[in-house]
Amino acid sequence: MTEPSRVFVPSVTEENGNTIGLGVFSSEEVAWKVLRTFLKKSHLMSLTRSDLVIWEIDQVGEDAMTILSSMHCRDCPVCKRRTFWIDLDSYSAMCTGTSCEAWIEESTVEPGKIDLGWPPTRFLKQTEALEDALTELRVLGAEVEAAGRTPEDPITSIPEE
Ligand SMILES: [Zn+2]
Repeated sequence: MTEPSRVFVPSVTEENGNTIGLGVFSSEEVAWKVLRTFLKKSHLMSLTRSDLVIWEIDQVGEDAMTILSSMHCRDCPVCKRRTFWIDLDSYSAMCTGTSCEAWIEESTVEPGKIDLGWPPTRFLKQTEALEDALTELRVLGAEVEAAGRTPEDPITSIPEE
């Protein structure tokens, strides 16, 4: 078995500045899986950011480290929980809150355009900029709120449907 030459290290940072390491992994795929699974619990914690860093093994100095992804946690424009993870470099965002999962992604078909969606109502839309996409989600959030749907309370809302 060959030793890995680089490792993938996911971590999250709490509001008080504490960094929680989630492990050291030899594959990017596994590191992402571990990070995404952890972020599903983010409504239970006060997290501000997440990082996925590559470390070259046995290399000295700052070149040994490459930041693969940094995401910031914000209040979700739809469900209002602190579960909305934004990656400003890749123009993507995803709410990890249960029964919400609002998302934003750069279009793969038309680069430069921004797609957004909200799975609970199969809402899909395209905008020109990330800011516009966030505005669209805020509008959607206001409509959801006005309609009395609260993702925080999925158990009491199911019998009425
Ligand atoms: Zn949400």
